[in-house]
Amino acid sequence: MIVACLDLEGVLVPEVWINVAERTGIAELRRTTRDEPDYDKLMRGRIEILDSHGLGIREISEVIAGLEPLEGAREFLDWLRERYQLIVLSDTFYDFAKPLMQKLDFPTLFCHDLEIDAGGRIRGYRLRMPDQKRESVRALRRICFRTIAAGDSYNDTSMLAEADAGILFRPPQNVVDEFPQFPVTHSYEELREAFLAAAQDLSP
Ligand SMILES: [Mg+2]
Repeated sequence: MIVACLDLEGVLVPEVWINVAERTGIAELRRTTRDEPDYDKLMRGRIEILDSHGLGIREISEVIAGLEPLEGAREFLDWLRERYQLIVLSDTFYDFAKPLMQKLDFPTLFCHDLEIDAGGRIRGYRLRMPDQKRESVRALRRICFRTIAAGDSYNDTSMLAEADAGILFRPPQNVVDEFPQFPVTHSYEELREAFLAAAQDLSP
């Protein structure tokens, strides 16, 4: 049996922080790991900005609930679930992802936790473990599953390399250039084809 491991943002749903920045009108929230490579610094900055605007988990959840999955994402997931087991591996947080998971019929999601106080203020965050995408794939392989992983960004490349097969979906050009070993797909149709081809290669 093959387990499909999918990234979330950029593959099934839009980039959450960029949309939160747009919908709240807080431009500073547009900063991503491309502007600030230190993830801890980036996240602490984001939490401070939200707090200074009086935005807690309730307000952010409302913004996120207004987002829709990428066009065709739901159909793609249905197609995938008929053929493989599916786990979404993301570096987002359960509280942020929840409204979007509902729109995707609640696939299994491995991600991280926010620290939220009784008043709904976001006080911090807790990564479940470092490099959890790769570690999850490694653990699946250890319990004798074959794995095909797909993602769009730098934080997916270690997972793609760890999997039996890795596929890039709508990646930025710098990722394509740096990781030429992974096939590149631009549509769900191409991604389906890439999954079928990888599964064929894995079959005994
Ligand atoms: Mg992504």
